[in-house]
Amino acid sequence: MKENKGKKVLLAEKREQAMIEGILEGSPDGIGVVVVRLDCGCRKMAAVSKEGDPASKIIMYRDQAETICAKCKEDNGSFVRVTESFIHWVEPAPSEKLQQEISLKVLGSNTAN
Ligand SMILES: [Zn+2]
Repeated sequence: MKENKGKKVLLAEKREQAMIEGILEGSPDGIGVVVVRLDCGCRKMAAVSKEGDPASKIIMYRDQAETICAKCKEDNGSFVRVTESFIHWVEPAPSEKLQQEISLKVLGSNTAN
């Protein structure tokens, strides 16, 4: 693992990893999974194709809870409450350039640098 100086590298947590694997199993076109962490502790995830399009439906879940929180039920995990978002790439990960293009398309310009 090489470190990216000045750039925060977000990695999937163990429980997220399990969800990611489950999503990818049902999404053969997925080359990665978008992981969105919300300020309430819920997570939003969806597989992404190599074109940067959704390759699965959006999954929402909350650790150690049967359902997502009341807030998320209300606003469906609004982007204004997103604390962190990143894409977990399937190995072998696509080129840096493709990763950036897809990130931009999926997550928006706020994560482009
Ligand atoms: Zn929530």
